[in-house]
Amino acid sequence: MATDGHETDLGFETRAIHAGQPPDPITGAVTVPIGLATTFAQAEVGADQAYDYARSGNPTRAALESCVASLEGATHGFAFASGLAAEDAVLRSQLGPGDHLVLGDDAYGGTLRLIARVLAPTGITWTAVDLSDPAAIEAAWTPSTRLVWVETPTNPQLSIVDIGMVAEAAHERGAICVVDNTFATPYLQRPLALGADVVVHSTTKYLGGHSDVVGGFVATRDPYLAEVVGFLQNAVGAVPSPFDCYLVLRGIKTLGVRMDRHCASAASVADLLVAHPAVAAVRYPGLADHPGHAVASRQMSGFGGMVSFVVSGGAEAAQALVSRTRVFTLAESLGAVESLIEVPAAMTHRSASGTPLAVDPAVVRLSVGLETLDDLLADLEQALGS
Ligand SMILES: *Cc1c(COP(=O)(O)O)cnc(C)c1O
Repeated sequence: MATDGHETDLGFETRAIHAGQPPDPITGAVTVPIGLATTFAQAEVGADQAYDYARSGNPTRAALESCVASLEGATHGFAFASGLAAEDAVLRSQLGPGDHLVLGDDAYGGTLRLIARVLAPTGITWTAVDLSDPAAIEAAWTPSTRLVWVETPTNPQLSIVDIGMVAEAAHERGAICVVDNTFATPYLQRPLALGADVVVHSTTKYLGGHSDVVGGFVATRDPYLAEVVGFLQNAVGAVPSPFDCYLVLRGIKTLGVRMDRHCASAASVADLLVAHPAVAAVRYPGLADHPGHAVASRQMSGFGGMVSFVVSGGAEAAQALVSRTRVFTLAESLGAVESLIEVPAAMTHRSASGTPLAVDPAVVRLSVGLETLDDLLADLEQALGS
């Protein structure tokens, strides 16, 4: 009999291709059909059946939820219409007026905007700190802190946070630890196994992997958290379309091989930048002198495809540089087959300017894609000038 991909002894790549996706029982189709039905015939009034109305659940989404949950080592998974919709469901399920959360001081700009401009006006307070520093976490703590929001590696500074250490600190105080695993993906890092309570993703990035779908995900092993997040998924309804779910499922099938190449090419790009006179500093967790290198080596199985660097000439030189690349496309987003370049302070992280999460305007962020490595290196060399 064909596998449904859930045997726990199956490897990551096998589950990426098969978990939740057995051949269609009627046609034998080996890929999950895009189920467009919005409603499902009921055997009788009040019948207990898998599907009734498509916001509450549909077979294509169920396949995706089952697959990503398996990859994260979770028991429950919930797909959302975007990464931010997934984040919103987690935050709203846990925090009410008077509650406090701690987040990293270079969290994704959209996460900060959601917290500072959507949640804070409802009476939620927050503190942004350097989560790689245990003393800073200690100082940020208040009696009403209920949640710690971790990103690692961070965006765009690629700092590394020790997930086990932060989860333990949170649990000691009765709070939960949420990890945004977008940059690492479950191929390189599995936060639940390290002690986190919830994992969130922007599946728009590496999981989708082809710059053609926006989506989000929440995974957990905790039945209570699963219940409250599942309730909001249905009650608020920020769900992905069946086609979106199909695209993410399709992307995930090659996640392992893509990540291997992203990691290898990013390491070569980082080496080139380290040696280049027009570069003042390089941030890549695979570099031995990166402050988080030891922790990253322990909690990740590879260092990822993102590289950030500081351009010697400052903000103007950074903006000039990103307009000179020809293979790296000047664009926001990350994690797809094509290489992208951007200036976070003026683009993805503009909403963080004037906050503790503001980014140095001379920082350039690369999402190293899957093009021929020599073309990527040559492109950066010509753009940097010699
Ligand atoms: C892109 C991104 C998000 C937001 O996801 P969307 O799918 O754009 O809503 C959250 N966290 C990180 C780290 C991201 O890169």
